[in-house]
Amino acid sequence: MESRVQRSEKAERVRVPFFRVALDEAEIEAVERVLRSGWLTTGAECAAFEKEFAEAIGGGVDAVAVNSNTAGMHLALEALGIKDGDEVIVPVLTFTATAEVVRYLGADPVFVDIDPGTLCVTADAIEKKITPRTRAIMPVHFGGLPCDMTAILRLAAARGLPLVEDAAHAFPTSHNGIPVGAHGSAAAVFSFYANKTITTGEGGMVVSTDKELIKRVRIMRLHGIDRDVFRRHTDKPGLWRYDVVAPGYKYNLTDIAAALGRRQLRRAGALRNARKAIAERYDRAFAKLPLVLPAQAGPGDADSYHLYIVQVAEGSPIDRDRFTAVLEAEGIGYSVHYTPLHQLSYWRDRYGLRDEDFPAATDYAQRCVSLPLYPSMNDEEVERVIAAVAGAFG
Ligand SMILES: *Cc1c(COP(=O)(O)O)cnc(C)c1O
Repeated sequence: MESRVQRSEKAERVRVPFFRVALDEAEIEAVERVLRSGWLTTGAECAAFEKEFAEAIGGGVDAVAVNSNTAGMHLALEALGIKDGDEVIVPVLTFTATAEVVRYLGADPVFVDIDPGTLCVTADAIEKKITPRTRAIMPVHFGGLPCDMTAILRLAAARGLPLVEDAAHAFPTSHNGIPVGAHGSAAAVFSFYANKTITTGEGGMVVSTDKELIKRVRIMRLHGIDRDVFRRHTDKPGLWRYDVVAPGYKYNLTDIAAALGRRQLRRAGALRNARKAIAERYDRAFAKLPLVLPAQAGPGDADSYHLYIVQVAEGSPIDRDRFTAVLEAEGIGYSVHYTPLHQLSYWRDRYGLRDEDFPAATDYAQRCVSLPLYPSMNDEEVERVIAAVAGAFG
C-alpha cells in the first residue's frame, strides 16, 4: 500500500502542461448537433459564425471564415494583388506563417525588428524598411498586446500602403477602445488554432470593411468558384450552375468547427478575464525576481492575455536555459514564442539575415520563456508555476 507521503510526491510529479484546451458541455453539444444534422462542411453554422464574429469586432466589418489564419493571410494578400517581385514588411519576431504567405505569392518579406518593450513593431521601424517595391505591411499584435495602430495606420495612409494585420493573438484585443480588426486596415486575420484565445481546433477569420476584398477572399477560399458571375450571364435556372474565375484554394471552414467557434465566441470575454486573473497573480508573485515581465497595455488599450512571456533579466544569477531546466525538473510546461525568423535557416539563408541586423529580437530570443496561461488552470497549478519560478531564482 502506498503511504500518504508517496502519493503526494507522485501527485507533484504530474506535469502542469503548457496548454490544455477545456471545452464546456454546450460546446460539445453544439458540435454533436452538427454531427447529427446531415451537413458537415461549410454551411449555415459558418454563415452564422461569420455574422456573429463580425458583430463582435464591430466597425461595420464583414468576416469570412477560413480553415486557418495562415490561409486567411494568404487570401488577404492575394486579394490585394501581391505578386512576384513585391515586398511586404513583416516583423522578424512572429510565427513563420506571417512571412510564409508572402512567399506563397512569390513576393519577398522584408523583416523589421521589434520594440523591446512591447515586442510589437513600431511605425518608425516600419518606415525605415519601405522601398519602391513595398506593397503591404503586416503588423503582428504580439502576445495579445495591440501594436500602435494609430501611428501605423497614419504611416500606411501617408505611403498609400495596405495593412494586413496578423491578429492570431488578438481576440479580444483593442487599441484606443477599438477592437483589433475594426481599425480600417485592408484586413485583419484571426486564428482559432487549438491553443489560441478561442478555438475551432483549426480555423481562422478574415475581417475587412473592403467589400471587394471580402468578395475576392470568399471566391478564392473555395476553388475560385463564383456563382454570381454565372447568374449575371445567364437566365438558365439551376442552383448547381457556377463559374470558375481563378485557380482558387481549398481554405473553407467546416460547420463542425464553426459550431464550436460560435460557442467559444460567447465565452471569449470570460476566457480572457480568466487568463487576465492568472497573469495578474504572476505579475504580483514575480515582481521582485530578476525577470522582465510582460508589458502592460497602454491607456485605452486592452490585452487579450494570449501569452505570458517573461525574460530573464540582465544580471540574473541564472540564464534562460538554466531557468527552463528548473521548470522541466519541476514538471512545469513552457514554450518559446518564437525563435525570430532571422535565426531559422530558410529565412536566414535566403535573405542573408544576421543577428546584428535585429538586436532587439536577438536579445529577446535568448531571454524569453512563455509560462502556462489558460482558463482551465486550477489554483494548485498556478501556485506550482509560481513556486517553481520563484525557486529557480531563490
Ligand atoms: C498561430 C499563429 C499563426 C498561424 O495561425 P494558424 O491558424 O495556425 O494558421 C500566425 N501568426 C501567429 C503570430 C501565430 O501565433
